[in-house]
Amino acid sequence: MKEYLLQCEICGKDLELMNGYFACFDVEAATWQFVCSDCPDLKYDFSVARFFGSPRETIDCLAHLQEKRWFKPDKFFEFMERLRASCSYGSSVNVIG
Ligand SMILES: [Zn+2]
Repeated sequence: MKEYLLQCEICGKDLELMNGYFACFDVEAATWQFVCSDCPDLKYDFSVARFFGSPRETIDCLAHLQEKRWFKPDKFFEFMERLRASCSYGSSVNVIG
């Protein structure tokens, strides 16, 4: 299984994509960051492992976001675009198992 090593956008620590969180620290700007487990926002964060844990979980998380008045889809998908670039150009490691 191929995993991706990314950096926490708060503390700079390297971590695997699946061990990170999507966090919105600024609901006014509705911007998102990829963060490690030491740096999540307490109210507005999603574990990557949970978000993509199953199709049902992904649907649940997206529907939950849509219910939030502060949620701006364009900001979330801009974040996805940035995350994709990090996965493509960041270092990757092969995880056994
Ligand atoms: Zn961190």
